[in-house]
Amino acid sequence: PFLMLDEFGSENKDDYIGGFPPHPHRGIETVTIAYKGRVEHHDSSGGGGIIAEGDVQWMTSGSGILHKEYHEKNFGKKGGEMQMVQLWVNLPAKDKMTTPKYQNLNKNNLTKVELENNVGSIDIIAGEFEKNKGPASTFSPLSLFNVHLNKGKGASFSFDKNHNTGLLVIKGSITVNNIEKAPANHFVLFENDGKEFTVRADEDTTILILSGEPLDEPIASYGPFVMNTNKEIKQAIDDFNSGKFGYLD
Ligand code: MN
Repeated sequence: PFLMLDEFGSENKDDYIGGFPPHPHRGIETVTIAYKGRVEHHDSSGGGGIIAEGDVQWMTSGSGILHKEYHEKNFGKKGGEMQMVQLWVNLPAKDKMTTPKYQNLNKNNLTKVELENNVGSIDIIAGEFEKNKGPASTFSPLSLFNVHLNKGKGASFSFDKNHNTGLLVIKGSITVNNIEKAPANHFVLFENDGKEFTVRADEDTTILILSGEPLDEPIASYGPFVMNTNKEIKQAIDDFNSGKFGYLD
C-alpha cells in the first residue's frame, strides 16, 4: 500500500524555509514523521498542528483536501537541523472517497515497547509488535515502527510473508540477517520469501520499518491524486478546479 517515501534532511534553513504551499490530495494518506526540527501543518478540513521530534501526523485526504506544510515559525527563525519523512499510503478503492480526517499522533501517544537487555526500544505508530498495538487507524493492514537499537544489539521482526516490507535507516548503520550492511539514508526492501528478519545495530541506530498487505488494485495517478482509473483522475482535476476541495489561505 506504500506509494512514495521521501526523506528530507538539512542543517541549512534556506533549504526548508519555503515549505510546501497549499496543494490538494485525493485518494491517499500522507504520513509525516518528524525526527529533527518542527513542522507545522494546516488543512482545509480545519485540521492542523505542530509536529516535533518523534511526533507523527497521519492525514487521510480521502475525497479531497488542501493542505500546506512548513517549518514551525520559531524553529524557522532560529534555524537548526531538520529531518523528516513523508510516506504516502494508498487507500483501497472502496475508501478513496472517504471523508478527510487527520490523526495527530503525538510522541506520547505512540505505543512504546522497551526491548529487554538494553537492546533498545520501539515506537509503534501502526500495526502491532508482540501484542502491543500502535494508535494509528488504517484502511488496510499495515505496520509502521520507529525502532531505536543500541550499538551492538539486535532484534528480530516478523511480518506476513505476502506483506511488502522494507526499512529506512534514519540514523546509524545496521547489518540485516547477518549479511547485508545498510548505512544511514539507505532503504532495505525485503523479498516476499519469508516472515522473519533480524537487524543488528553497528552503532546507535534508528530505523523506520514499514510492512503492509498489498492492495493489488490498479493505480492511476496524477501528481497529488492517486486513484484507480483515468476517469477518476479527470474527475479529481475537475473537482479541484471547481473549488470542491475547500479553501486554504
Ligand atoms: Mn502534501
